[in-house]
Amino acid sequence: MSTATATDQRVFNFSAGPAMLPLPVLEQARDEMLCLPGVGASVLEISHRSPAFIAIIEAAEANLRTLLGVPDDYAILFLQGGGRLQFWMTAANLIGDLGAQKGKSADYLLTGSWGKQAMAEAKKAGPVRVAYDSSATNFDRLPAPFCEGAAKMDLDPDAAYVHYTCNETIQGVQFPTEPDTGGVPLVCDASSDFLHKPLDISKYGLIYACAQKNAGPAGVTIVVVKKDLVANASPDLPVYCNYNTHIADNSLNNTPPTFSIYIVKLVTEWLMQEFGDLKAVHHHNQKKAGLLYDVLDASPDFYIGHAQPGCRSLMNVAFRLPSDDLTDAFLSGAKKRNLTDLKGHRSVGGARASIYNAMPIEGVEALRDYMVEFRSEQG
Ligand SMILES: *Cc1c(COP(=O)(O)O)cnc(C)c1O
Repeated sequence: MSTATATDQRVFNFSAGPAMLPLPVLEQARDEMLCLPGVGASVLEISHRSPAFIAIIEAAEANLRTLLGVPDDYAILFLQGGGRLQFWMTAANLIGDLGAQKGKSADYLLTGSWGKQAMAEAKKAGPVRVAYDSSATNFDRLPAPFCEGAAKMDLDPDAAYVHYTCNETIQGVQFPTEPDTGGVPLVCDASSDFLHKPLDISKYGLIYACAQKNAGPAGVTIVVVKKDLVANASPDLPVYCNYNTHIADNSLNNTPPTFSIYIVKLVTEWLMQEFGDLKAVHHHNQKKAGLLYDVLDASPDFYIGHAQPGCRSLMNVAFRLPSDDLTDAFLSGAKKRNLTDLKGHRSVGGARASIYNAMPIEGVEALRDYMVEFRSEQG
């Protein structure tokens, strides 16, 4: 199969994750697959302690620092175990018996399926409290003042941290800005919107994001952590599960996911080359998501959005159609147009368009056009 054919066969893939990667990233990885320039071997074949790989991981970190404006008192780590290991690891390092703030409890904002699972895992490490829970309305909203009429957060001013999921991938509910915790550090699961806009890092104690949604491929989880927050965690924690291990060893205590880190380096380079900065990335994402929400707003009885206004995600647009038959017809018609992986998660039903950084606006426009046409065909 020639390369041109492979590229021509690519669809607009709306998968929630692993998700689309930018084509220039895939092309560069292909070109360098047999041999990194000047290295004589593929990135898959070199030691994680070789100068060539050290240059790659340092560049990936430097790109993230530049894009997000991460100050020196924060470490950037490249870990394994996915978002799910972080659910427990954050709590173990902070509120667990071996944690830096043993004796304190942590507040959790439950705004979707992922936040709920994060708390369930954290509970195995230490005491947790529910500070907000929208499960009664199937996680369609955020606390007031983000969503009008919603309950407020019930925060413990002495909590070790407030954990929240800035973008709930399944429900398509996203915080437009950080919740106000009155100075209690935020611990944030940013797995499905990391790098989609600039962040005020100083509000955070710790941010974690598995890469396979918006930042790269599966296999690596990026952690941005304020070093002094975790410094007092006990050395009796399992070595891998202690953030201080990875802070001290620059993510090279054990063999890190070298290929995934290499792709994160290429993705961050692509962001800088294509957009310049995350402000421009954010603007682009607002424009893309706006195309789809405009269709929902024009036909609110046909494309029924899951998220309440005020908390609609720029990354995952979740909506239902009036019946299962129409949903099936919608999805199969989309597939015929090479618009794939639009099925919603079973807990929400309907359809979900994941439109991360790598989804070109042409893909969103093609989906928008199809949605308008499908609607008008139904009379
Ligand atoms: C996908 C996802 C996870 C789980 O990540 P894994 O790498 O599969 O463990 C956690 N949180 C959010 C918000 C996600 O979207």
